[in-house]
Amino acid sequence: MRREDLLLAATSVNPGLDRAAHLRIDLTALAAYPSKTLEVASGAVRTHDGLLHLTDASPQLDAVIFLGLDTAGVAYFAKSGEGDFTSLREVVSQFSAFERLLAAHAVALMNWHESHPHCPRCGSPTVMSSAGNARLCEKDQRELYPRTDSAVIVLVKDVDDRILLGRQASWPEGRYSTFAGFVEPGESFESAVEREVLEECGIVSEQINYLGSQPWPFPASIMVAFEAIAKDPSQALADGVEIERVEWFSRAQFKEATDSGRLVLPPSISIARRMIEGWYGEVLTGGEAWR
Ligand SMILES: [Zn+2]
Repeated sequence: MRREDLLLAATSVNPGLDRAAHLRIDLTALAAYPSKTLEVASGAVRTHDGLLHLTDASPQLDAVIFLGLDTAGVAYFAKSGEGDFTSLREVVSQFSAFERLLAAHAVALMNWHESHPHCPRCGSPTVMSSAGNARLCEKDQRELYPRTDSAVIVLVKDVDDRILLGRQASWPEGRYSTFAGFVEPGESFESAVEREVLEECGIVSEQINYLGSQPWPFPASIMVAFEAIAKDPSQALADGVEIERVEWFSRAQFKEATDSGRLVLPPSISIARRMIEGWYGEVLTGGEAWR
């Protein structure tokens, strides 16, 4: 599988946006670029005919987030808006790689601004700074930077190349997926993989390999994908808390289960779906586009 096949927003290949961090503190230089602005509101974006709606009007630089420059030298901005917006989850599958990157970047940053109005040290209100890429406490001059929550997502396999999938009780009927959880303080990604897999499905992991990553701005995560080989596949057992059922699938069993509708795949925009498709060897149909 090519790494880029795994990505929502092509993190390992450059889809054409230079973040141009030096312009964040040079608004005079930034103002000289032609611009396009997208409007964002609480995890949603303004769209037009299924594509991102971008306006050409010169933005008020102290009220927008500078995202970067495209290869033609156009500056892209995001600003908070009101009106007819569509959830990013619903529309992202229709976007180009460039639009996905732009939208994920804008939504993740806006989510952070909306949820960090106060200084964590002194409680005073904070204001946007660095062209929307930081916030500043004007009382103690502390600069605050956006946070991203790391989560590992794991495709558990056995030596016979079967995969282990699990389902959560809250999911739509028949939905199975890979195993995932947040990285805890002081943990490496590999330790988080071992812990989450053991907790959720009772499997001891061997041969942990990195597959790729996907920004997941719902509201502020990055999904870091791995595969792990099960030391003893017969130990597979749902934790009964987060995961209610686990099941091993060979390719033939997987095909039969998806064809019959007994197994519903994770959403097409998700990295879990790409991981399963990477194992199966082809792009699969069915399941929802989003959620
Ligand atoms: Zn402060």
